[in-house]
Amino acid sequence: MAEKMLKFIKVERSMPSKRDASDRKDDFNEIYAEFSKDKAGEQAARCSQCGVPFCQQGCPLSNNIPDWLKLAAEDRLEEAYQVSSATNNMPEICGRICPQDRLCEGICTIEQSGHGTVTIGSIEKYITDNAWEQGWVKPITPPRERAQSAGIIGAGPAGLAAAEQLRRKGYQVTVYDAYDRGGGLLVYGIPGFKLEKDVVERRIKRLEDSGIRFEFNTRVGETVSLSTLRDQHDTILIATGVYAAKDLKCPGSGAKGVFPALEYLTASNRKNFGDDVPAYDGGTLNADGKRVVVIGGGDTAMDCVRTAIRQGAKSVSCVYRRDRANMPGSQREVTNAEEEGVTFEWLASPDAILDTKAGKLKAVRASRMKLGEPDASGRQSPVKTGETFDIKADMVIKALGFDPEDLPELFGEETLTVNRWGAVRVDYATMETSLPGVYAAGDIVRGASLVVWAIKDGRDAAEAMHKAMRAQERASKVAAE
Ligand SMILES: Cc1cc2nc3c(=O)[nH]c(=O)nc-3n(C[C@H](O)[C@H](O)[C@H](O)COP(=O)(O)OP(=O)(O)OC[C@H]3O[C@@H](n4cnc5c(N)ncnc54)[C@H](O)[C@@H]3O)c2cc1C
Ligand code: SF4
Repeated sequence: MAEKMLKFIKVERSMPSKRDASDRKDDFNEIYAEFSKDKAGEQAARCSQCGVPFCQQGCPLSNNIPDWLKLAAEDRLEEAYQVSSATNNMPEICGRICPQDRLCEGICTIEQSGHGTVTIGSIEKYITDNAWEQGWVKPITPPRERAQSAGIIGAGPAGLAAAEQLRRKGYQVTVYDAYDRGGGLLVYGIPGFKLEKDVVERRIKRLEDSGIRFEFNTRVGETVSLSTLRDQHDTILIATGVYAAKDLKCPGSGAKGVFPALEYLTASNRKNFGDDVPAYDGGTLNADGKRVVVIGGGDTAMDCVRTAIRQGAKSVSCVYRRDRANMPGSQREVTNAEEEGVTFEWLASPDAILDTKAGKLKAVRASRMKLGEPDASGRQSPVKTGETFDIKADMVIKALGFDPEDLPELFGEETLTVNRWGAVRVDYATMETSLPGVYAAGDIVRGASLVVWAIKDGRDAAEAMHKAMRAQERASKVAAE
């Protein structure tokens, strides 16, 4: 029986095999794309209802996983959807892109006992995709309208989750975003082969249909000031994410043909939307036929290498200064990338990007590294061995992570307190910042993190904003009496 189960899981998780670049171009489906009702039910029934729901503890939203697995196994899919959506504003998105191996599935009791995890994420995705198909996902109709309003800066998962929670309680909600559409990194960071764009778009549409106003192309701090928004609304949420890309500090880092990861991924994601992207169409931000070198070892780097493969790159290499065991990205993503044909240069650090006199990219010169003594964080520091080597390159992508932008400067609010990395400081009991009535959530508080944590923060902040607005309302009633 156990063997049968393992075989089933293996099929479910099977990845595209190594193939030609031309074949890879069409390979846009991620692992759970074909998850059917029968398979969802079969997997859900594997949950042993162990009584110690470690999976729930592994989920940042404390999703009631055993209950919706049981309901799904009994084919009570509408109830499963109700339970699943009670704690999560976008279950089908988390089901697709949470690193489940590090969260709920990693500590599933069945996984721990060696029989392979229940594929929680895929079932969560199936339940809500099915709910959309059946018409069970409806716009929000609050029990009563309230006059008070909330201004939310940032339409990423933190801002969207907070907007939804506040609208449910009847507040008037406006979301301001610098981009031309909602979703934040859900639309412009995470590639379409992991998260289809229409899945995010239908969520935004539902919020619009629920009475939430979106003001796009509005960069707070430039288009409109924070103080104007504070005057207009009873409460404000800062959910602006982190967008200052860490740069490569070596000669040639600014050479023609060297791009920051988000610029590259955004171009590709815009193409997925059908937007006009001259830099992609003209070949500049398109890996087709090129030898691509991606520098970095996190999930963003994995998204870049896998996007380049899908664009038909001639070859794709990933250069990371530590070894595989010490890379920050998900091991599952590395396995995916390897199976798709990416070459990993572990223990390698770039010394220079080389180009010709005419400015044409030639190669990345890198040093071989070894792991030395642990640093202050306890991780072994990479040190040069003295050996160098070149990797031929026509395109180099820098995927070294992100820092917060200087928000006190951008917002002209010196009293907005940030930590030494520039992340906004909050009182974790309320998510309130140093500015009264101004809250913060998501990556701008945690530093680059995960969608599921952004949703959790957005929900927590919304709850605190609601409590504060109720207190304000009561106080003004008392004052009026
Ligand atoms: C390439 C990439 C891949 C990722 N893959 C995954 C994954 O597979 N799984 C996962 O869980 N996480 C992933 N993440 C991380 C995840 O996307 C983030 O943790 C999450 O999106 C953070 O949500 P947020 O709402 O805080 O910020 P964001 O999603 O960044 O949204 C912030 C929004 O604020 C807007 N904004 C910024 N400044 C202003 C301003 N001044 N005025 C108005 N609007 C502003 C932005 O335009 C943006 O829309 C990935 C990140 C990247 C970069
Ligand atoms: S939200 Fe993420 S961590 Fe929580 S149950 Fe879903 S996939 Fe697992």
